[in-house]
Amino acid sequence: MSAPTASPSPAPAKTRRVNVRTPEVMERVQAEVETHYRSVLVENLRKAGGVLTVGHTTIRLARDFGFCYGVERAIDLAYAARRVFADRKVYLLGEIIHNPEVNRQLQEMGIISIPISEHEAKLSTLDPDDVVIVPAFGAETRLMNIISERGCSVVDTTCGDVMSVWKRVRGYAKQGFTSIIHGKAEHEETRATSSRAMGDAGDGHFLVVLTLDDVDYVCDYIRKGGNREEFLQRFGKSVSKGFDPDKHLTRVGVANQTTMLKSETEELQRRVQKAVEDRDGAEVAKQNFQVFDTICGATQERQDSLFDMLRKPLDVLLVVGGYNSSNTTHLVEIGEKELPTFFIRTAECLKSFSDIVHFDLHLKAEKTSYSNKLAGNDPVVVGVTAGASCPNNLVEDTIIRVFELRGTPKAEVMAEAERVAAPVE
Ligand code: SF4
Repeated sequence: MSAPTASPSPAPAKTRRVNVRTPEVMERVQAEVETHYRSVLVENLRKAGGVLTVGHTTIRLARDFGFCYGVERAIDLAYAARRVFADRKVYLLGEIIHNPEVNRQLQEMGIISIPISEHEAKLSTLDPDDVVIVPAFGAETRLMNIISERGCSVVDTTCGDVMSVWKRVRGYAKQGFTSIIHGKAEHEETRATSSRAMGDAGDGHFLVVLTLDDVDYVCDYIRKGGNREEFLQRFGKSVSKGFDPDKHLTRVGVANQTTMLKSETEELQRRVQKAVEDRDGAEVAKQNFQVFDTICGATQERQDSLFDMLRKPLDVLLVVGGYNSSNTTHLVEIGEKELPTFFIRTAECLKSFSDIVHFDLHLKAEKTSYSNKLAGNDPVVVGVTAGASCPNNLVEDTIIRVFELRGTPKAEVMAEAERVAAPVE
């Protein structure tokens, strides 16, 4: 597991946060955002209960999918920053969200993305005139400190749900608890959260775990100790600087990246709690274990909607989103347990039904597959969902592409969607 570099870092110095959300700016921004990402087809399908049948093809849309409130806000703020600081250089720390199409759009607007590997070096060269957008995932405290030192203006789009996790892990550090964070150590959000887990004084500790195998290993160590060197080798840099499993697993608090699979996070919480109880006894364990579920509402709604959709018969599932999007990845994991599931970035991945380019979570690479179900002439029901960072226009393109490949032209699909969405007289 690769991971964040964890040098002690106190809470960020005062940053020059600017409010770009004035009513005049936001009115124009929202109109611009709509032109880029709106979909009339998706709106009509939602009005019609999420189902559209034309010929032998039925599309079933999940109840909740696509842009969440945090992503909508982040995009609005980035567009507003560009507008308000039209004559200044506007930088973005990495990606605003994990969707290549949205990031491409921001680049076309002149917003300069600083790749993660160059954050520190590039930020150190900025001037007070420069503007830095912090993405929805937030940023590590050491980066916020550099931005403050350089005197740049900051447009902070960090989602409120992410900040709730920070509040929790800071609290753990204050009480002398190590944060066990369920997440991907290299993910921007988890890096930002890990830096807060070191507390305001920078002397707290964290351990990031991803799989249930990791959790079982940690639980064994909590119960009966183990080989310290092996532990540190296994978790590499997924731990805070100076982390010692013999000392820092005594009092633990569990938190999670906001976009994890809920069932897995709950299992992790149960296993760690049980390990602490086995070691300390139920009464003492209450002093040494804390938990706080920090999966965000939007992630949960998208997962629950997919479970609901899977209760009805479906032949194939298409999940649309960025391949590095954590919440989208979990939708794919849920789907592929039940039926043939294709994780596609855009409609362009559907070159034909014998040439579907999709991301394989297990290979961690794109591959090309064939779908018998979609290619034939038999009636087919296709489920469609999308991660929290996927705009509606990409979902629309995907639906249209499925119909077109099955012989139904776009105009016919749009007309039928409008018809089924119309109120019954
Ligand atoms: S997925 Fe959740 S945490 Fe992330 S931006 Fe959306 S609402 Fe916020």
